[in-house]
Amino acid sequence: MKTITVFKGDGIGPEITEAVLNILDAAKAPLEYEMFRVGAAEYEENGALIPDAAFASFEKNKVLLKSPITTPVGKGFRSLNVTLREKYDLYANIRPAKSNSAVKTPFQDIDIVTFRENTEDLYVGVEKQIDPDTVYATKIITRKASTRIITDAFEYARAQGRKKVTCVHKANILKQSDGLFLSIFQAIAQNYPDIEADDKIVDNVCMQLVMRPQQFDIMVMPNLYGDIVSDLTSGLIGGLGLLPSSNLGKDYAMFEAVHGSAPDIAGKNIANPTALLWSACMMLEHLGEMEIARTIRRAVDQVLAEGSCKTPDLGGQATTSKYCEAIIARL
Ligand code: ATP
Repeated sequence: MKTITVFKGDGIGPEITEAVLNILDAAKAPLEYEMFRVGAAEYEENGALIPDAAFASFEKNKVLLKSPITTPVGKGFRSLNVTLREKYDLYANIRPAKSNSAVKTPFQDIDIVTFRENTEDLYVGVEKQIDPDTVYATKIITRKASTRIITDAFEYARAQGRKKVTCVHKANILKQSDGLFLSIFQAIAQNYPDIEADDKIVDNVCMQLVMRPQQFDIMVMPNLYGDIVSDLTSGLIGGLGLLPSSNLGKDYAMFEAVHGSAPDIAGKNIANPTALLWSACMMLEHLGEMEIARTIRRAVDQVLAEGSCKTPDLGGQATTSKYCEAIIARL
């Protein structure tokens, strides 16, 4: 048995967490959970967004399954997600977007993995009011952070037998910052002659993604472009309800859906738990439980292919719990 930390989150967080843990239990995943409520509701009651015990649990267990968290707006808080990524140096945000034949979208053959640098760029949150009408924001790109995310992208490509890594940037305008990222990419690419390396400007990438997404394989990019481009890739495969992610550092690993807490549908039992479930599958693979991850993925594919039990975001009418029961029935 392996003990992992679970953050239940806000909005649809508790509903999709319950669904996912029920499926993991039904699949006999050898896991025990230390569960914590975090976010706005926790703050209102106990005065801390993330209780100390929750941090301590993650520091002990090293693996976190995290539901979406709402950072209260306008109270001077830094994003909880950014805080967690920084505190535990979770520098690699990996977001696989793969077509599922049961989900009808304009393209059926997409298999793109985005490697998003997770600790710097404009997300360092350094903004300065120069005068009432002028604000500066600081974009930070370092050799250290760029080197490790780009190396991870190439290593992943090699380990998974993938063909190409594309660097996404805006070095034609941001000549020094994105220029540094691009030059590090070009240098590292020399060490991987077996993998094709190319680079594209981010605006062109967005256009190419909606016209000919099949040309992309692995993509690596600084933080802000990674945030935006990976949401675009989620749209290509059927929406945010289907995009999982891992956030990996040297010592810690956090797995979460790419979507937010979706307050507009919270409490209605209609949220799609698939993105968090696939994140849990990435976690199982990280823990070496390949067979259980495969079994769960197969059950999800069967339910989606059968078609009668889909959540509303995928054009169906099933509740979260019915969808979850259908998956459990096929395990
Ligand atoms: P954040 O800033 O945290 O990303 P957001 O409000 O911008 O939050 P989401 O919370 O991800 O974005 O929601 C965007 C839209 O996608 C909403 O209409 C929401 O209902 C929908 N959505 C997000 N996740 C799911 C899901 N798991 N199932 C169904 N719909 C979802």
